[in-house]
Amino acid sequence: MSQCENCGLSKSRNRTVPGEGNYDAQVMMIGEAPGSNEDKTGRPFAGRAGNLLNELLDSVSIKRSQIYITNTLKCRPPSNRDPQQTEINSCEPYLALQISLINPSIIITLGRFSFSKFFPNITLSKARGIVREWNGIKILPMYHPAAALYNPSLKPKLLQDFQQIPSLINISSPSISDQPQKYPATQVSLFGDPFE
Ligand code: SF4
Repeated sequence: MSQCENCGLSKSRNRTVPGEGNYDAQVMMIGEAPGSNEDKTGRPFAGRAGNLLNELLDSVSIKRSQIYITNTLKCRPPSNRDPQQTEINSCEPYLALQISLINPSIIITLGRFSFSKFFPNITLSKARGIVREWNGIKILPMYHPAAALYNPSLKPKLLQDFQQIPSLINISSPSISDQPQKYPATQVSLFGDPFE
C-alpha cells in the first residue's frame, strides 16, 4: 500500500495511512480519509478528531488497541477535501481485504463516505444509530467525530450511539450519566489485546 499509485492522491501524500489495531478485533471502525496529522504520522485518527474518538471509546471502556481502525481512503485528499468517487473505487480493494482479514462482528462507520460503501442508497441522517446487516456483519453507522468538532450538538448523539457498542458485543455498558468515569478493563475481556 505504501507504494500504491492507483489514484492521484499518491502524488500529494506524505505517508499512506493503512490502519492500525487488533487483528482479532470484534469491532472495526472505518472513517473517511487521513487528515494532516495522519498524513504526517501514518496513523489513523491522530489529530483532534482522534482525541474525541478516544474520549468516546473511554465512555464505553474500550481501548483503541482492542479495536481495528482504518479509513475509506488511505491517503490524504489535499486540503482535506471530500473523497472523490474515483478515489474511493481505486482504494476499495484495500478496505475489502482488511474487512476480510479482520473479519469483525461489527463495523462502525464514521461519516457518510464509509457508510455509503455498505448502503449507498440510505442517507446517514436517517441511518445513524441503527444496526443493519451486511454480509453477516453488523453495520452501525455514526457521525464522524470531526463533525462533532464543528457542530458540538452532534457530540451527545455520538455518545448515545457509542453506548450501543458493548451490548452488540455482549459486554455491559456504563450509563452516559456516569461519564467520564473509567471502568475496569475486566469488562472488556472478550477483546484480545496484543499491545498489553
Ligand atoms: S488513496 Fe488508496 S488507491 Fe489512492 S494512492 Fe492512496 S492507497 Fe492508492
